[in-house]
Amino acid sequence: MNESVEDVKRVFEEKFKEKPHLYYSPGRINLIGEHIDYNDGFVMPAAIDKGIFFAIALNNSEKINCYSVDFDESISIPLSEVRKMDGWKNYVLGVVNEFQKLNLPISGFNCAFGGNIPIGGGLSSSAALEGGISFSLNELCNFRMNRKELALLGQRAEHNFPGVMCGIMDQYANMMSKKNTVMLLDTKNISNEYIPLNIEGYEIILINTKVHHSLAASEYNQRRKECEKGLEILKRGLNIQSFRDITNRDELLPFKEEMGDKIYKRCLYVVEEILRTKKAATLLKENDLTGFGKLMFQTHEGLKNLYEVSCKELDFLVDAAKENKDVIGARLMGGGFGGSTINIVKHEGVDSFLKKILPAYKKQFNIDAESYDVKVVAGTCEIDN
Ligand code: ADP
Ligand code: MG
Repeated sequence: MNESVEDVKRVFEEKFKEKPHLYYSPGRINLIGEHIDYNDGFVMPAAIDKGIFFAIALNNSEKINCYSVDFDESISIPLSEVRKMDGWKNYVLGVVNEFQKLNLPISGFNCAFGGNIPIGGGLSSSAALEGGISFSLNELCNFRMNRKELALLGQRAEHNFPGVMCGIMDQYANMMSKKNTVMLLDTKNISNEYIPLNIEGYEIILINTKVHHSLAASEYNQRRKECEKGLEILKRGLNIQSFRDITNRDELLPFKEEMGDKIYKRCLYVVEEILRTKKAATLLKENDLTGFGKLMFQTHEGLKNLYEVSCKELDFLVDAAKENKDVIGARLMGGGFGGSTINIVKHEGVDSFLKKILPAYKKQFNIDAESYDVKVVAGTCEIDN
C-alpha cells in the first residue's frame, strides 16, 4: 500500500502496452459527527492525500481487464457477465453494474490501480475505489453524471455488491471535497456547506490502532436498531421527525423509563453529537480551534460512555493524547471497536507526541500502531499524464 501514480502508470503500460488516463481518488477523514450519518445528523468530512491512483483506458472491446496493484490480482470479464464476486472485485464490478442498471452504454476498459491508503483502516478506501472507477468511466464514456450523482451511485454499488449498508458520507466526501475546506454535510437532505479549514500551525495526525474487534459489524447494526427504537418512542411523545429536531438534551428525560437505560444512552449521545457538530461548525468559522478540539474530546467521551463503541486500544490513545499539551483535540474516528484516532496537534509538537505515544502503545498492547500526517485535498480528479 505504497504506490505512487508513477508506479501505477508504469504497471499499466507494461500490462496493456498503451498510454492511460490517470486519476486520483482520495480517502477521507471526519473531524466530528460520528455515528450520526445514519441518524439524520450532520458530519464534517474532508478528502485527504491518502487514496488510490488509477490508470485507465477504454479498450474498444466488450471486456473489463482490471488489475489491483496492491493485491497483485486481476480480473478479466465480459461486460455481459458482470456479477457479484468477492473482495475488491465487488467494488469495481459493483460500480459497472450500477452504470448498466441506468442503461448507460458502458464500454470495455483496461485499468490498473493502487494507492497509499491503509485498506480497511477507517479512511474509506472502499469509497476511494468506487469513486475512482465511477469518475473515470463517467468521463471516458461521456455519461455526464454530476459528482453528487456519482457519490450516490457509489453508495448503491457498495450496498448491492459488497453488501455493506453504508451511509452517504464516504462517497460524498470522496466526490465533493474541496482543497483546504471541510464540509458540513447534512445527511438528511444530502447537501453540504463548505467551511475553510484554517489550521495553520497544526497538523492532522491519524493513529491506526491496528486492531479491528470482530464486534464491529454486529454492534453497528445493533446501534442502528437501538436508535430506531428510541426515535419511535420520542416521535410518539414529542412533535418531531428526527433526532435533529431535539434542541435540548433535557427533552429526553421524560422518556428515560420507557426507553430503558441502554436506549436512553444511545439517544442522548445522538442528540448531543448532532448539537455538538453544529456548534463545532460555528467554532471553526470563528477560528476557535481550541474550542473545536474540546468538542472532539467530548465526542470521544460520548462514544465511549453513552454509545459504547470504543475499546481499550482507542481509549488508551485518546487518554495519552489528552495528557499532551500540544494535542488540542482527539477522538476515535469511524465505527469504533478499533480503527484509527484523529488528533489535532501543534506542528512543533508532532514529533515528540509520536515518539511518546507509539512506544507507550507498543508497551501496553504489543502492537505497532501506525501514524499518518494527512492534508485536506480536493475530491476525485484527473491527473495530467
Ligand atoms: P475502509 O474503511 O478502508 O473503507 P472497507 O472494509 O469499507 O474499509 O473497504 C476495504 C475493502 O475495499 C478492501 O477489503 C478491498 O476489497 C477494497 N479496497 C480498498 N482499497 C483497495 C485497494 N487499494 N486495492 C484493492 N482493493 C481495495
Ligand atoms: Mg469503507
